Amino acid sequence: MLNIIICGAPGCGKGTQSDLIVEKYSLKHLSTGDLLREEIAKRSELGIEAESFISKGNLVPDKMIFDILSKAIEEQTKNSKGIILDGFPRNVAQAEALENLMTQLNKETTLLIDMQVDDEELITRLLKRGETSGRCDDNLETIKKRLEVYESKTAPVSDFYKNKNKYAAINGMGTIDEIFGRISAAIDSKR
Ligand code: AMP
Repeated sequence: MLNIIICGAPGCGKGTQSDLIVEKYSLKHLSTGDLLREEIAKRSELGIEAESFISKGNLVPDKMIFDILSKAIEEQTKNSKGIILDGFPRNVAQAEALENLMTQLNKETTLLIDMQVDDEELITRLLKRGETSGRCDDNLETIKKRLEVYESKTAPVSDFYKNKNKYAAINGMGTIDEIFGRISAAIDSKR
């Protein structure tokens, strides 16, 4: 079973690479950003609350995320070849909660893939995406805040998995195929 975390600053290409990983390794894709955007589109109570954090570039509260995600992880790890977590864990408390859940389910995280892209390139990509994405957080002010939040809260998750020897840094600059080649090599080395 392969249970992969894909991590990296906003705009690093997590979504694009997740789709390729899902196809090649037959994994189930769980994106917390997508789950939250679905709730926002439905105008559910949770979606409306989440939107007030997302539109400012802040993380939504851990409990809110874990409530939606833990059921999905339990479901998707049953009778499957594994999962890819995209956008979770976003801080060390979430990483600890995830590892506790995996232990309870008798599963294991295989690897965290850390996609590394220069800030300048990230901002260019996100502003371009903002022209068509309709996302409330793809504007310059919110992008800058998201990059700050990433550095302070999410980057430490890398050390958490480095200490467990379940970490691969991937150069996220280049063509989609080049980057996917690097990711596949890292995954294959853990199989
Ligand atoms: P993403 O699509 O992964 O860039 O997520 C978009 C936004 O959703 C983030 O900027 C956060 O506000 C929120 N979000 C997504 N995943 C999480 C998470 N694991 N914990 C807290 N907030 C999250």
